[in-house]
Formats: sequence, C-alpha cells, structure tokens
Amino acid sequence: MLPHGNFSPSDTQQAPAETQVRVNLKDAEDVVCEACGSNIFDMVFLMKKLSALLSPDGTEKVIPIQTIACHKCGHVNENFRPPETEKE
Ligand SMILES: [Zn+2]
Repeated sequence: MLPHGNFSPSDTQQAPAETQVRVNLKDAEDVVCEACGSNIFDMVFLMKKLSALLSPDGTEKVIPIQTIACHKCGHVNENFRPPETEKE
C-alpha cells in the first residue's frame, strides 16, 4: 500500500503539541559557588591563546570560551570549567 498523492497536508502536521519538558524548579537543586556558597552566577569568558605554531592558518589567535563564574567572588566552579582549560 503506497500512498500516492491522495493524502491531505494536515496529516503530515501532527507534531506533538507539547515538546517542552516541564520542569518543576522546586525539585531542582541549587548550584552554588564552591568558594563562597553564593548561587548567583555571571556569564563570563575564559580566553585561550593559540600560538601561531598551533593555529591552522599560522596566525596567533585568541579564543573565547564561554563559562559561568560566581557573581560574588568570581570563582569558576570545577564543573563549569571546560576540560581543555584545566591545565597547561
Ligand atoms: Zn563565589
């Protein structure tokens, strides 16, 4: 049984109305700063410098990496730290 040209367009538009998962914030755990315990954070950037030797086009580059820092003391929690920036 092949559908051939005899279906109505509305049949193809049956995406589920509720695609978003409802989250109850009361059940969510607070993430707090490891250093001072504050739970207010800022969006910040870690900056990485890629030397000309390592850069694909041979020029020195500065690469911003977005992460989250404590609003109060500026500490970046261990689990917000991108793994590739941990040591160098
Ligand atoms: Zn802090």
